[in-house]
Order: sequence, then C-alpha cells, then structure tokens
Amino acid sequence: MNPYLRLLARPFQYYFPYSFKHSKEFYQWLDFVNTSQWDTPEAIAAYQWTQVKKMLDHCYANVPYYSALFKRLNAHPDDFRSLADYEQFPLLTRQHVREHYQDMIATNIDPAVINTYNTGGSTGIPLKIFGIKSDNTIEQAFIANQWARVNFKPKDRVILLRGDVVPDGKLWQYRPSSNSWIFSSYHLSPVFIADMVKKINKIKPKYLHVYPSSLWVFANLMKEQDLHFNFKLTAVLCGSEKLFDFQRDFVESYYGTKCYSWLGLGEQTILAGECEHSKNLHAFPQYSYNELIDQDERIIRKPHISGEIVGTTLHKYVFPLMRYKSGDLASYAEGPCKCGRNFPLLEDVQGRIQNMIVGSDNRLFPLTAVFFGQHLEAFNKVHKIQLEQSKAGIVSIKIVKGNNFDQQDEAKFKMQLLTSTDHKIDFSIHYCDDIERTNQGKHKFLIQHLDVESFKFNQED
Ligand SMILES: [Zn+2]
Repeated sequence: MNPYLRLLARPFQYYFPYSFKHSKEFYQWLDFVNTSQWDTPEAIAAYQWTQVKKMLDHCYANVPYYSALFKRLNAHPDDFRSLADYEQFPLLTRQHVREHYQDMIATNIDPAVINTYNTGGSTGIPLKIFGIKSDNTIEQAFIANQWARVNFKPKDRVILLRGDVVPDGKLWQYRPSSNSWIFSSYHLSPVFIADMVKKINKIKPKYLHVYPSSLWVFANLMKEQDLHFNFKLTAVLCGSEKLFDFQRDFVESYYGTKCYSWLGLGEQTILAGECEHSKNLHAFPQYSYNELIDQDERIIRKPHISGEIVGTTLHKYVFPLMRYKSGDLASYAEGPCKCGRNFPLLEDVQGRIQNMIVGSDNRLFPLTAVFFGQHLEAFNKVHKIQLEQSKAGIVSIKIVKGNNFDQQDEAKFKMQLLTSTDHKIDFSIHYCDDIERTNQGKHKFLIQHLDVESFKFNQED
C-alpha cells in the first residue's frame, strides 16, 4: 500500500493536535464558578436561598409531583421565606423518585430535548433520571473548576479507564471529542497488561481518569509484571467511586503522582472535591444545597457525626430533586479550609449505605472500616477481590490470587477481618480465575443482597 494512502486512512486527529472546543455557555458557567468560589458565607447563603426559592416556585407551577405535594401540605412556595423554613420541606427518597418519576418531569420544557439516564443503582436497582444538555454543560464547568486544582486544562491528553466498552473487542480507542484514549476495563488481566502499558507509554498522557477500582486492578497487574510508565503523570483523576486510602497510597507511590478525588452523583444533588490543600471534599454550594441528616431525620450541624447526604438541585429545572436523600453517608470536617473556599467540607465519605456488610447482631460495618481503613497486606498479593452477602453474619469472599498469595496470607487476612468486625461475621474465602464486572464495567467490591437501609448504620445512637 502507498504509505501516503495509509497515512490518510489513519484518523485525522492522530496527526493533528485536536482543538478542544467548549460552548459559550460552558465558559459562562466556568467564569461564574471560578469567581464565586471565593464568595463569603453570607453571599453563598443568599445565592443558595435565591436558587432554592426559584426552584420551589418552578416546582409548584410546573412539576406535577410537587404541585400535588404542596396541595397535600396545604402550602405555597411563599410560605418558605428562608433556608431555615426550607428545612421543613419533606425529604425525597429514592423510592419516591422510582415510583413518581413521570410526574417529576417539568411540563414547561419541550420533551424533545429531554434525555433519560440511569444512575448506577446503589441498591442494585438503577434509578431513572432526566436531564437536558445544559445540565451536563453546567456540571462540566464545575468539574473543570475542580480539575484545575491539579492544573488540568481542557486540551490535556487523558487516558480513560472508566468502564467504557471499546468496540470490536479492542483494547483501546481514541476519542477525539475530548482528546482522550479509552482503555478497556474488560481486559484487565495478566495477558493484556503489557500491551496496554506499552501503548500508554507511547501516548504519554498527562492524566488518567479512572474508576478507582479499575485502576487499582490495573496498577497491581503492572506491579506484578514490573511494568512502569516512562513519563510523569500530572495527576490521576478518580471519580464515580470512593477512592479508598489503600488505593490512593498504592497508586500514588507506584506512579509517583497525586490522586485527585471527588464525589459526584448522577442525580446531580452534590458535587464535592478535594482542594489544593486538603483531602476533605468541598461541596460546591453554587451547585446544590446540601444537608446531612441523622437516622431520625434531624439535621446534623456539627463535625465528625455521620449522616446521610441530602441534596437539592439548584439548576436542574427539568427534573428537580428537592431535599433528596441520596443514600450516601458522610460527616462534616472542621472548617474553614486554608484554601479560602467557604464550602461545606465533608470528611469520611463512606459511600452508599449499601456499601456495608451486616453482622450476626444486625450491626452494620462499613467496607471502608473493615477492609480499607487498615492496611491489609493481602491486598498487595491479590488481583481481584469481591464480597457477597445474602445473610446477616455471613460474607463470602472471592479472590483471584496473585503470584505470592499463600496459606499464611489467607490466615492473616481472615484474622484481620474477624477482628475488625468484632467476630460478628463469618468469612468464607473462595479462589477463582476471574471475577465478573458489573454492566458498567466496574469491579464491584461488594454484591449486597440484603436491604441494608433497613438496618441501623450508627450504633452509637
Ligand atoms: Zn480547601
């Protein structure tokens, strides 16, 4: 074949720097976020109340679910005169959304521009969510502000390891729209790892944008074959899942770079990320109005008390979620942060309530504490690991062994687990050749068949 023709047959963007283009709307929002991130607490509270009130008026006038709710409460949006009043507004559960989603779509927005999404179901059942293009543009602007904290610029080259399916069973694919390379999360095995690393060493990306669980598997495979990157990563962007300390420690030391983690939900009721100075998650107050509530639905205002994250969307008019209980647990950190942002700070985000295992005494143990809060040496010697629970007090663990995992490791591992669960869980270990991923391509640590929300999560009360 004529080499020139071969050249033409390659994708255009392969040879020419791709000019990444965002919409005018994106840059307007980015300007807004960049400026308002330094607002005073008073300015923030005033902005939040203005947006919440706008949303209440909109819901009353245009969203059948909320019109009916106001009627049932014999209330009117004007009855709410402050954020303190708004604390009386009824909470919204996932169950409500699941049952009433059709009535929660605003009737004053053209159905032709409305898209449907499924959020990853923390309880195993996905939730249907609706949105318009602007909702994503707004979210992208907020995320761009977060990533700028680790110097990210929209044109920077990125490797994605986020459960995307690469067509034709290939290991990677270039995505010109974002100057990124998608790598398959479905080929993370000793057979393919060397080829993937070789390719990444040619691409020399500045960032990896990953599901932490997938990257953890990836990095372990690299380590086992003594593979290394021949370039310096600026940072690893860790989204969509909790980044556990053991994952961060390993990735940061193996790649010699920083992990940047944030919490975002498909429901768009919170977006919270680390800053330049702290691992506490800074929840954007211009994005959503957030509260933490305890089991009796009392509002938590003090630091270090674990509660459920409640969020109100401030911009999403097509499918407004008002005081939505996300099922994620977190506690406030002490502020203010030295970065100067007057944002609510979250520490110890435990992720979804469903990410807990249940003891024989019906006590809940967060995976964070049992598995990831301590340094289990066995983790460095396994390829993959997955827990499954169908009965309180019993957890079965599937393990894909690495080269050096032996009997002693198993015994030590079991003992550590028993100790950290107060001997209230019987762990059985099964070895296998591979573990299936979820249909979103994640390496799920826990398959929880129990309805954890019906158990108590905070035993101190
Ligand atoms: Zn900060």
